[in-house]
Amino acid sequence: MSMNLVTLLYLIASVCFIQALKGLSHPTTSIRGNLFGMSGMAVATLTTAALIVQIAGGHIVGVAWVLLGLLVGGTAGAIMARRVEMAKMPELVAFMHSMIGLAAVFIAVAAVAEPWAFRIVGHGEAIPGGNRVELALGAFIGAVTFSGSVIAFGKLSGRYKFRLFQGAPVQFAGQHPLNLILGIIAAVFCFAFWHTQSWMDVMLVIMLGFALGVLLIIPIGGADMPVVVSMLNSYSGWAAAGIGFSLNNAMLIIAGSLVGSSGAILSYIMCRAMNRSFFNVILGGFGGEVGTQALGAQQQRNVKSGSADDAAFVLSNAETVVIVPGYGLAVARAQHAVKELATKLTEKGITVKYAIHPVAGRMPGHMNVLLAEAEVPYDQVFEMEDINGDFGQADVAIILGANDVVNPAAHNKGSPIYGMPILEAYKAKTVIVNKRSMAAGYAGLDNDLFYMDKTMMVFGDAKKVVEEMGKAIE
Ligand code: NDP
Repeated sequence: MSMNLVTLLYLIASVCFIQALKGLSHPTTSIRGNLFGMSGMAVATLTTAALIVQIAGGHIVGVAWVLLGLLVGGTAGAIMARRVEMAKMPELVAFMHSMIGLAAVFIAVAAVAEPWAFRIVGHGEAIPGGNRVELALGAFIGAVTFSGSVIAFGKLSGRYKFRLFQGAPVQFAGQHPLNLILGIIAAVFCFAFWHTQSWMDVMLVIMLGFALGVLLIIPIGGADMPVVVSMLNSYSGWAAAGIGFSLNNAMLIIAGSLVGSSGAILSYIMCRAMNRSFFNVILGGFGGEVGTQALGAQQQRNVKSGSADDAAFVLSNAETVVIVPGYGLAVARAQHAVKELATKLTEKGITVKYAIHPVAGRMPGHMNVLLAEAEVPYDQVFEMEDINGDFGQADVAIILGANDVVNPAAHNKGSPIYGMPILEAYKAKTVIVNKRSMAAGYAGLDNDLFYMDKTMMVFGDAKKVVEEMGKAIE
């Protein structure tokens, strides 16, 4: 296989990745986007495998290791992707970011140990200074991505008692200066590695990266996790691109840069959706000190509750209904039941719209994916800025497993979510809220919307409740 052919195949894969990103920008083209992404990845992986086999020549053990890696990694990925529930996707994404970070660290260590095996230099020669800095930087970003993603995984899963895996921020005096000092020390060792090519320097850079990844993510509170997910996505891309420069691999550079820059743009979009500055999020501490206040307040307040039949009656008598899906809908896997309910309402001549908040659920685009899976017509689905003006005229806003994204506390100065744009469901003439209890949302805040006179709470699992509502509407 000539290098010209390899370059051509890498170019084809890169074009596929760009088409994938373009396709994924809208639900109607997302399947095509995914197909492009899969094809690009297949071309890139097979080309790289063929190249390795060629470089390895008659070294059958080396080839076997590569093929074994492809087999084990590919099988594990396929099994996990098939088994994962929709509600657990964010954890899977965090896990994958951590693997990309770890892969960058391993590649850097292997390249430092045997640079000639990667064709960075001839056998026995020293790595050039520039390559050393690239390797150290790639390893550092990879280490930050790995440990940061592990913490994000714990925070997103919410299953572990370990304090660092809790949604509430972990803060201590001098945290930010400490991060800054660790970052500067890591930069010093990167440059030291340039001169010395000493194992100790590169290992210290990696250790500092692991420590910094943890320290950067622990002060970030639950409600800011959307930015963290997209930020780690971006880091994983830059780690791959950094290693690509050292290995002189155009594919890694292009794919890494695409992931890095698209992740950075997504972080910006997420920050805008939450009306927060990027540095504000990175410095952390948001959405943490809240759980106890909320609990104290909610015990003394009364809510109006009703049954699924009551809610069905209200819905049947409406002219316009806006459905607000949230994380609880994903957990309950109620998207198909909601689609059926909406179809019944539409058949009765009622206008139904879905309102999507950019950070609803637990990953960017979570609600769009859920609704697309249930084949909800795209023309019924509206983004926050397009639907907020409609709530005032809506007869009913029905909130299904959403909490933070409709919490009017975002308008109150002093609230941890102050300034975050919300879906203005509280403006609808009647509000129906379905959730299982009065428990707080991801940010740990109580929600005044639940106590309003015009609000009816319908307690229970979203799927069960929505199915009952559907049955009651004939
Ligand atoms: P929230 O997490 O604020 O609230 C979800 C609500 O769903 C809970 O109050 C819960 O109440 C209810 N619920 C849970 N299970 C069920 C069920 N089976 N049936 C019915 N209700 C259920 O969700 P939102 O979507 O409103 O907000 C998303 C939050 O997640 C935001 O704070 C956002 O910042 C954060 N986040 C978003 C990410 C993203 O990229 N989109 C990533 C990480 C975090 P109860 O227990 O009483 O049922």
